[in-house]
Amino acid sequence: MTAETLSFQTEVGKILKIVANSLYSDRQIFLRELISNASDACDRLRYLAITEPTLTADDPEFRVELSVDKKAKTLTISDNGVGMNREALIEDLGTIARSGSSAFIDALSSEKDDDVALIGQFGVGFYSCFMIADMVEVTSRRAGEDQAWKWTSDGEGQFTIEEAERESRGTSIVMKLKKDAKEFMEPMRLRHIVSTYSDHISLPIMMEIDDKKETLNQASALWTRQKKDIKPEQYTEFYRHIGHAFDEPAMTIHWRAEGRVQYTGLLFIPAMRPMDIFSPDRKHGVKLYVKRVFITDDCDELCPPWLRFMKG
Ligand code: ADP
Repeated sequence: MTAETLSFQTEVGKILKIVANSLYSDRQIFLRELISNASDACDRLRYLAITEPTLTADDPEFRVELSVDKKAKTLTISDNGVGMNREALIEDLGTIARSGSSAFIDALSSEKDDDVALIGQFGVGFYSCFMIADMVEVTSRRAGEDQAWKWTSDGEGQFTIEEAERESRGTSIVMKLKKDAKEFMEPMRLRHIVSTYSDHISLPIMMEIDDKKETLNQASALWTRQKKDIKPEQYTEFYRHIGHAFDEPAMTIHWRAEGRVQYTGLLFIPAMRPMDIFSPDRKHGVKLYVKRVFITDDCDELCPPWLRFMKG
């Protein structure tokens, strides 16, 4: 069967233009977005498999894998999650379904410098791969189906879709890196990005480095566990990790709020006074995560300035 060519929805075209043509300092966030999608796809299949266990029986260990082909200048991210069939590839990667997105797109086209922050907050997600790639190929097979499909685009208004081969369920995204994005072939760079933005994704994120399979993240989000299951040493280790600290926390506060908005707070008051506590430039050390994915460490509203010694 030959490839079929389709057009992106107008709004997607707009987003792609902004994403691909602006020079971003924060473009490494594409990896966070793709890992977050891969992790969601695994969560969705995990959920479906509760009632239909055969879906995952052949390969029950969920994971995300990164791989690099230096010759072809590609970076690939694969998952063994729920996958997408033809309809889903066209619908999910060709349109923006969510309500409120048109307001978001209007905001995008006005204030250029803030676009990346907006992308981070709203997560235009998948499309962020066009910040670093000039050609993207998505091969996917929906769990429980036999036929795989390939979606290909250069992010310029159109995409093609055709039948493909894939040994098992899940999705692989192959990105042909732009000339100025070759850094994303370096294992150390990738490891650093994963540990900064996706350390707390609960699946292993693996990569073959010097012929050895390595897991790049810690694969556990401490704050999502029950308080009673967390030992004081684990709190201390986590505090030292996020706060780059050496002391013990003087106080640990861990709570969950549930209502119209649900959130969990895990905050620490250090025992040692920070060296720069009286420096006007000092910021608080509280990071914001949404669904276990790091969003920002620079959200002033999270914590008043007088609490700038706080970490969490
Ligand atoms: P969002 O994740 O915020 O919905 P995206 O643009 O990142 O927006 O992704 C659009 C949709 O494409 C997702 O909601 C999901 O249905 C689908 N999708 C993206 N990546 C994957 C993947 N790795 N596996 C399965 N589905 C995916």
